[in-house]
Amino acid sequence: MKTIAVLTSGGDAPGMNAAVRAVVRTACVNGIRVLGVIRGYNGLINGDFVELDLRSVSDIIHRGGTKLYSARSAEFATEEGMQKAIQQCKENGIEGVVVIGGDGSFRGAQDLSERGIPCVGIPGTIDNDIACCDYTIGYDTCLNTIMECVDKVRDTTESHDRCTVVEVMGRRAGYLALNAGIAVGATSILIPEINFDIEKDVIERMKHTQLTGKKHFLIVVAEGVGVNVTDLAHDIQKETGVESRTCILGHIQRGGSPTVKDRVMATRMGHYAVKNLLMKGIGNRVVAAKNDNVVDYDIFEALNMKRHIDEYLYQIAMDVSI
Ligand code: ATP
Repeated sequence: MKTIAVLTSGGDAPGMNAAVRAVVRTACVNGIRVLGVIRGYNGLINGDFVELDLRSVSDIIHRGGTKLYSARSAEFATEEGMQKAIQQCKENGIEGVVVIGGDGSFRGAQDLSERGIPCVGIPGTIDNDIACCDYTIGYDTCLNTIMECVDKVRDTTESHDRCTVVEVMGRRAGYLALNAGIAVGATSILIPEINFDIEKDVIERMKHTQLTGKKHFLIVVAEGVGVNVTDLAHDIQKETGVESRTCILGHIQRGGSPTVKDRVMATRMGHYAVKNLLMKGIGNRVVAAKNDNVVDYDIFEALNMKRHIDEYLYQIAMDVSI
């Protein structure tokens, strides 16, 4: 391949820049020209490209967000939008595309690959919800951000013998809530993958723990469970007598300088996408982390895998937070 493109798509995740840097540098040192696509698939449709060389990705490895910007593109999911993107690729000599994003972005990459533009997906999403991967870029930074924020709210929760109900991101997946909940010592953790009953799994647990002398509580709720945290805090206060507040962490969870783990994994994956796949003419693949190795899967196969939450880990969390 003489020219490839790289784009970031869907929700941004810390470490996307490190992945872009690795893609660009690996390609450049192997004589491949790289075009950065601005604002995900929208940029591909509109021909919004920027030429990237070795130095244009300097000083981004430590930055959160994405220097290529990201977007959700409704137009790209239509046949017309897809054809415009293909036309842009042809006109600009783009022979392969690295797509850094989540499973929605991989669906787009699969569609492009099927229409003759080989694409390689790199999992960049804070949710860690890509079934073929043990680990997605941005997840570790996000977990650490949640932990740091909740540690701060814990100080005041403890000082006033309160309960704080913390809502964390995770529309369809509870990995963030479960692992952050363990890390902050939450009394209850509500996630989409595990059925729960507020009375039994929150109120009764708190009452039981109160009997052992505990006076302050943290409850971690994944946004995807559909519980209104203000109502939950109100019910907790009414039922347990513990003054209760809410803390919705929101978009702060997406930002910040990526952790070592995210920078290293992003670098390995970006390098792999170019060196092991596109340079060999291989497309329609997703790069994945498996048992600390970097591997790849067919996109269709990857998108049809089912990932299960570690129920034993959930049980451990419940056993030790009582
Ligand atoms: P995250 O879940 O972390 O936000 P994501 O990549 O799953 O990341 P989406 O908003 O689902 O985010 O998808 C990003 C973009 O991928 C969409 O805006 C759309 O342009 C494209 N896309 C999603 N699904 C499809 C599809 N079925 N066919 C073609 N393109 C798609």
